[in-house]
Amino acid sequence: MSLFGGIEAGGTKFVCAVGTGPTDLRARMELPTTSPEETIGRVVKFFQNQAKHEPLAAVGIGSFGPIEVHSSSPHFGYITSTPKAGWRDVDLVGPVRRAFNLPVGFDTDVNAAALGEHQWGAARGLDTFVYITVGTGIGGGGMVEGNLIHGLLHPEMGHLRIAHDTQADPFAGVCPFHGDCWEGLATGPSLEARWGTKGQALPPDHPAWKLEAHYLALGVTSLVCALSPQRIILGGGVMKQASLMSLVRRETQELLNGYIQAAEITEHIEQYIVAPELGDNAGVLGAIALASAAAHS
Ligand code: ADP
Ligand code: ZN
Repeated sequence: MSLFGGIEAGGTKFVCAVGTGPTDLRARMELPTTSPEETIGRVVKFFQNQAKHEPLAAVGIGSFGPIEVHSSSPHFGYITSTPKAGWRDVDLVGPVRRAFNLPVGFDTDVNAAALGEHQWGAARGLDTFVYITVGTGIGGGGMVEGNLIHGLLHPEMGHLRIAHDTQADPFAGVCPFHGDCWEGLATGPSLEARWGTKGQALPPDHPAWKLEAHYLALGVTSLVCALSPQRIILGGGVMKQASLMSLVRRETQELLNGYIQAAEITEHIEQYIVAPELGDNAGVLGAIALASAAAHS
C-alpha cells in the first residue's frame, strides 16, 4: 500500500504525519507556526527523514487560508490574502514539490478534514455534506455530489452574515472585515470577548451557550437551505462544550420550523448534526486523504 505524507498547515501550529490512514500513522510531528521559511524548512526536513525509511507516493497539504486551490493559476498552492503576519503570498506547494518531486494535493484545512471524514469518519458513504469547525475562527468545507467544494475561490462559510438581534446581544463581533458575521459572533475569541471568560471556563448552565447555539444554528440552517447536505459535521474547540451539540440540534429544528421535510432533520437530527470521528488527527488525516487523491489523479 502506498505511503503518504500529510501536512495540516494551521495559523498556530503545523502537524505533519506519514501513513496510510487512521490505523496507520507511522510518524507525527507538531511544530509552532513561526516564519514561513523556518516552518516550511522544518516540514521539508521531517519528510526527508521519513522518506529515508520508505519512499512517499504523494504529499497532501490542508491549509489555513485564504489559499489558491485552482491548479491553472500561477499562484496555485499559495496562501494568498491572509491577515496573518508574514504569511501573505506564501508558496506552500512549491517548496514541497521541489524537495520531493511528488504529486502534491492542496486544499483548505476544512476541505481536507471533510475529505478525511468522508474516507474514514462521519461522512462515509455520503456525497453531499458539510464540515464546520468552530474554534479560533469558523471554517467550513465539504462535498457536493462527490466533489470537494471550490468555485470562484473556495467557500468562506465562516463569514456568512447571520441575523443579529443587537438589543438582545449588543456585542459588535470580532471579525476585522464584517464585525458581526458568523465568525464575528460565534468563535472562541468572540465568546471570550463577549463574556470576559474563555469558553472552556464558562459553566454549562451559563446563558452564553443558548446564545452560542442560536448563532451556530443560524449558520447551519443557511447551509442546510443552500446546499441540502445529507449531514453536517460540527467540530472544533468550542464544540467541546458538552451541552452545545444538543442545543444546536434543537435550535436548528426550531429555526427550520418543519419546512424541510426530511426525517433526518425532523426525527433523527442526532445523526444529522454530528461530531467528527477522526478527533485530533482529523486535519492531518485529511491531508493524507488529499495526498492519496493527488496520487490517483
Ligand atoms: P483552532 O481553531 O485554533 O485550530 P480549536 O479548534 O482548538 O483551535 O479552537 C480553539 C478555541 O476553542 C479557543 O478559542 C478556545 O477558547 C475554545 N475552546 C476550547 N475548549 C473549549 C471548551 N471546552 N468549551 C468552549 N470553548 C472551548
Ligand atoms: Zn467576517
